[in-house]
Amino acid sequence: MKTFQSLSEIQSEISSGKLTVSSLVDYHLKQIKEKNGRLNAFLSVYEDEAINQSKIVDSKIQNKSAGKLAGMVIGIKDVFAYKDHPLQCASTILEGFESQYTATCIQRLIDEDAIIIGRQNCDEFAMGSSNENSAFGPTRNPMDESRVPGGSSGGSAAAVAADMCQVSIGSDTGGSVRQPAAFCGLVGLKPTYSRISRYGLAAYASSFDTVGIISKSTEDAALVLEVMAGKDDFDSTVSQMEVPQFSSFELNKKYKIGFIAETLLHDGLDEEIKSAVREVIEHLKSNSHTVEEVHFSHLDYVLPTYYVLTAAEASSNLSRYDGVRYGIRAKSDDLEEMYKVTRSEGFGEEVKRRIMTGTFVLSASYYDAYYTKAQKVRRLIRDETEKLFEEFDILISPTTPSTAFKIGDIKNDPIQMYLEDLFTVQANVVGIPAISIPWGVDNQGLPMGVQLMSKSFNELELLDISNQIITFKDQNR
Ligand code: GLN
Repeated sequence: MKTFQSLSEIQSEISSGKLTVSSLVDYHLKQIKEKNGRLNAFLSVYEDEAINQSKIVDSKIQNKSAGKLAGMVIGIKDVFAYKDHPLQCASTILEGFESQYTATCIQRLIDEDAIIIGRQNCDEFAMGSSNENSAFGPTRNPMDESRVPGGSSGGSAAAVAADMCQVSIGSDTGGSVRQPAAFCGLVGLKPTYSRISRYGLAAYASSFDTVGIISKSTEDAALVLEVMAGKDDFDSTVSQMEVPQFSSFELNKKYKIGFIAETLLHDGLDEEIKSAVREVIEHLKSNSHTVEEVHFSHLDYVLPTYYVLTAAEASSNLSRYDGVRYGIRAKSDDLEEMYKVTRSEGFGEEVKRRIMTGTFVLSASYYDAYYTKAQKVRRLIRDETEKLFEEFDILISPTTPSTAFKIGDIKNDPIQMYLEDLFTVQANVVGIPAISIPWGVDNQGLPMGVQLMSKSFNELELLDISNQIITFKDQNR
């Protein structure tokens, strides 16, 4: 079967009678069977359900009652609640746990007749940049199986890249959708904070967490965003703003774009990625967009701010995993001892590192020195970023400092691993939408990503400019 770039291609084959949803599901299941043993992208495959559902959707298509996403096969990162299905956040501590309800974003996809094909591997509790922190072992990058697919939504990106599903739903707290998308040659969209309900998304750092989309095209990202976004009675933090028709995003406007000089001049940036961003800039100029250099003086502070605040929030959010309410419970007659052993055995190294760091920065003696300070710096970062958007519609930078690295190369060097998030965390610290779009491959054939950001709630223009860039690339290569 040919690979489809977007749902509209799928739907037009369906309406011309060349394709059925059942045959499409069979195809994806076959891809999973052939490749998952090596790639380790899916932790559970809902084979029978997907097959049954595909027949239902086919008959709905026949009698013209099918929803917008009929024909879309979706995988979900192991951080989303899906009623009566396992939810483990790729952690031992949640072994055996099944969700009692379905996340709002997932329910909205189902209501539009998308088919959920399985649960995908990720870094434990979405903490990591390589998918190596999973209790189920690493996911491999389909472009080069000796390399990581990125993280934390690594399984989700690998699954789309290997055509095991059309789209994946991931989460992005500091880059977890954009960085894996960049490493696997895909589109990764992190919407504005609060655009999509977090009800049913296992919390990592609540003031940063966003539901994100990994797809092959901006078109699919727009459509899935449109379906998932909008107010929700189960999450009072979701924006009440009207959701625009993202799927009609082709505005073809000319934009004022700023490229962030500090990102392109950064020592850690790979030369080929730098050239890729420069190439995009040249192309934008030649297409009558205005592109100017801008400065973002707080770049060096975004990572420390992000890691202090997310660790603090994580230490609080993860306190609920105590052996009493969820998952595994260590054997002990002493309650305190039971908590300790459950948490020591149930959590992996990186999660424990974050819980301890978070507990430390929130402790009475250090609260002001770290947590309060980081909150203040967060405000400065937000102010400086928002100021740039008074003048520019879009900001452009690399998505990642490097292309996909080898499995095992930096696993034991947390600082090096955190540096992977250098360019992506700004959008989460501020709460603005950001997207990674694929732009060619390096000399080893590894995909490179370019990141675009816009002001809050401006996903429409972000998708429009991304689409213009991708269309240009496809026409010229
Ligand atoms: N790599 C970052 C971290 O480890 C981002 C994770 C994410 O976005 N969930 O925190």
